[in-house]
Amino acid sequence: MARKGIKCPQCGRELTYESISDVPTFPFCSVRCKYVDLDKWFDGEYRICEDASDATETPANEDFRRDGGGTDSASPGEKS
Ligand SMILES: [Zn+2]
Repeated sequence: MARKGIKCPQCGRELTYESISDVPTFPFCSVRCKYVDLDKWFDGEYRICEDASDATETPANEDFRRDGGGTDSASPGEKS
């Protein structure tokens, strides 16, 4: 029987199997890796990161808007 191999998306360990039903934790190598991946989603790890950058970007964004408006109105005047 031919064995197939994949890499666990969580820890990168190689995992060989004959059929997917042999690996109850597919595509992870173990229950632990499966739960580590699920925990990331439940914790909202990525959302917390977005909130943090959003807060720091707000003052910079207002500066950029004022700056952009000045250059934008100067450009057409320069042409004509
Ligand atoms: Zn793993």
